[in-house]
Amino acid sequence: MTSYQEATITFKTLFSEKMIEDRIDQLADQIAKDYQSSDHLVIICVLNGAFIFCSDLCRALSRKGLNKISMDFLSVSSYGDSTVSSGNIKVNLDIANDIDGKDVLIVEDIVDTGLTMSKLFDTIHAKSPNSIKLASLLYKPSRSEHKVKIDYLAFTIEDQFVIGYGLDYAGKYRELPLVAIYDGE
Ligand code: 5GP
Repeated sequence: MTSYQEATITFKTLFSEKMIEDRIDQLADQIAKDYQSSDHLVIICVLNGAFIFCSDLCRALSRKGLNKISMDFLSVSSYGDSTVSSGNIKVNLDIANDIDGKDVLIVEDIVDTGLTMSKLFDTIHAKSPNSIKLASLLYKPSRSEHKVKIDYLAFTIEDQFVIGYGLDYAGKYRELPLVAIYDGE
């Protein structure tokens, strides 16, 4: 395990920039194949945590020839400033597209207990899309409480709190270009 020095804080790197880039390339291959005949793909980026993963993923999809994608954004908050789930989610921003009859790919940063995604699935399902699939950067199987099907998963992790590549702790560290384990400051 390598470490990443940012000012006075040392993070233990879990997934390097190169590992993430390579894995996204593999996922994009699969997703581009699966949606090649879809005319109505809407990618829903779950803000805030998925914004970097989603932007890298959709550019990888474009390089694989999957274009004319509609992008939408949905903002949910769950943990506040804690590293433990509060058991509640709040939708701060809903999608703008009409997804009735369209293929939807939700892009999420991490599935932990599965609460956020199971609630989001219900919200999206109620808008009558043709299909709903989920791409997630990370998954913590040991924390799973709510059954969630992840169609495209980049990495499985242990029960550790991670930061970077879009994921925060108390609003910080999203800008790190890699995924690291948060050990406290
Ligand atoms: P769930 O509802 O599945 O328990 O949690 C999902 C949300 O919790 C994620 O979208 C993310 O915002 C947050 N989360 C869960 N685990 C972590 C983690 O290890 N690091 C960070 N930064 N956020 C996490």
